[in-house]
Amino acid sequence: MARTKVFGIDLGTTYSCIAQVDEYGRPDVIRNIESQPTTPSVVLFDESGDDTSFVVGAQAKRQARIRPDDVASLVKRHMGESDWRFVGHGEEYSAPSVSSLVLKALAGDAERATGGPVTDVVITVPAYFGDEERKATKLAGELAGLNVVDIINEPTAAAFSYGFAQEGPTGSTVLVYDLGGGTFDTTVITLSEGAITVVATDGDHELGGADWDSELVRYLAQRFTEAQPDAGDPLDDVYDEQELLTSAEDAKLALSGRESVDVLVVHGGRRTSVTVTRASFEEITTPLLQRTVDLTGKVLAQARARGVDKVDICLLVGGMSKMPAVSRRLSDQFGLLTRLADPDLAVAKGAAVYGQKKELERFVIDDLVAQGKLAAGQSLDGVAPADLVKAVSEAASGYGLSTGAAVDLVKTKVTNVTSRGFGIFAEDGGRAVAAFLAHQNDALPIEVTRTFYTVSANQTEVDIRVFEQGTATESGQPGDNKVIVAGELTGIPAGHPRGTEVDVTFEMRRDQTITVTARHPGATDPLVLAITAGVGSTAMRDEEKAKVVLLKQRA
Ligand code: AMP
Repeated sequence: MARTKVFGIDLGTTYSCIAQVDEYGRPDVIRNIESQPTTPSVVLFDESGDDTSFVVGAQAKRQARIRPDDVASLVKRHMGESDWRFVGHGEEYSAPSVSSLVLKALAGDAERATGGPVTDVVITVPAYFGDEERKATKLAGELAGLNVVDIINEPTAAAFSYGFAQEGPTGSTVLVYDLGGGTFDTTVITLSEGAITVVATDGDHELGGADWDSELVRYLAQRFTEAQPDAGDPLDDVYDEQELLTSAEDAKLALSGRESVDVLVVHGGRRTSVTVTRASFEEITTPLLQRTVDLTGKVLAQARARGVDKVDICLLVGGMSKMPAVSRRLSDQFGLLTRLADPDLAVAKGAAVYGQKKELERFVIDDLVAQGKLAAGQSLDGVAPADLVKAVSEAASGYGLSTGAAVDLVKTKVTNVTSRGFGIFAEDGGRAVAAFLAHQNDALPIEVTRTFYTVSANQTEVDIRVFEQGTATESGQPGDNKVIVAGELTGIPAGHPRGTEVDVTFEMRRDQTITVTARHPGATDPLVLAITAGVGSTAMRDEEKAKVVLLKQRA
């Protein structure tokens, strides 16, 4: 049976990384052409004749200083924003299309390094990514010509990497604190034999290393203008600002290992050396770190509310967690035992391990179908345990795994929570409200049914607008939330009184696809709204926000 390898990709805001599991069963990061394990998620749009060509990675990042208008960076922050475009040489590129260039470059590097094709991948996303961002990520993979086998959450990938490095998940609870270049995720996960379960998750996709860099840029510019009052502000010059940004990031990296660093600031023909101490850097960035601490406190409280009150270890993931202040604050505030293990690579490695799980499952399914022990199209859930263990053991050595490790891998179930709340718009006390049916951190799969009521007699249609939570905490204001799909329940005959019951069922499966069903006693067919990958969801326009909803929350 032919094996198609599944690679793991960490598509990061600032850096990306591709990994595979080697023939000895070990996750291994594939270095790029510059021999680096990670590649800047930066694309330079270059003109060559009439065409535009693309340069991805360190080269592009270096050019950002000289040609800022031709360089797209921090694009992950725009995933799922249907209106966002980067304009490169007069052409418009959506966030998925820019990201597809990064993915193509990573796949190309892996093909060069392994000598084989790269077609199947697992791509990671922050746990709090909603439906649109996940779809945009999948689309980026497809635009790169890749078969996206699955999208998994970055903290889950980190937990995979940690769990399987210990010979399979053991009974422990981990907090994954992931502070990357542009995003922050904090997640409580339990690892037990056969299960990796996300208990609670939160995060902020507007918070990451780039913010620490900007803070330091401001500080350096201020020190420069104090020392050179006649030279003007380096931030008024786009090239000097870019230069300063690079120096600031270098200084930040150095301050993780040293107490102080000197930075040369040049502007308007003047130069000043600014000394930055770790203490002053930590002081100017305290509010940023505090935001991560607050979110971590919130997620620990949510885990406690779900009966998980002891965290055994805090895994520090993401380049920024190398800052000494991170582990110090986490242990001071929460008494956490922290572990800095592979912070730049753990997510890609975990994605590769998960990719291998998918690959192994596919192999075993094909094998069992060929033997007539499983009907085509069925999952492994229904296979007799003895048949499963036998098929997995036969496949194990081909994957460089011991039988035990392969069986663990296949048997391990990943249970997730939803990172956002969902609901429909309804009327309450004469005004439109966002009525939540599912809440952040509800365990998947979710199935909730709630009764709403028609707003008038003889109502022949019902308007259903499904929204996704748009703010950090639930807001009942429709305008604060994002409509992801809408439809009308029609064909209701006249004659039903005002206040007729309409049952609305919200379902979210393990793969986070959503179905909403509305049933009215007079309608022959229920309204079924399904949101699957590839269906564009609508951002809410102003006139829609004002639209009268045709369902009441209370009778
Ligand atoms: P990631 O998105 O996980 O690749 O994280 C990249 C971010 O981590 C960037 O903002 C880097 O500047 C930052 N970073 C990498 N190494 C260090 C370090 N040693 N100290 C502080 N920040 C770092």
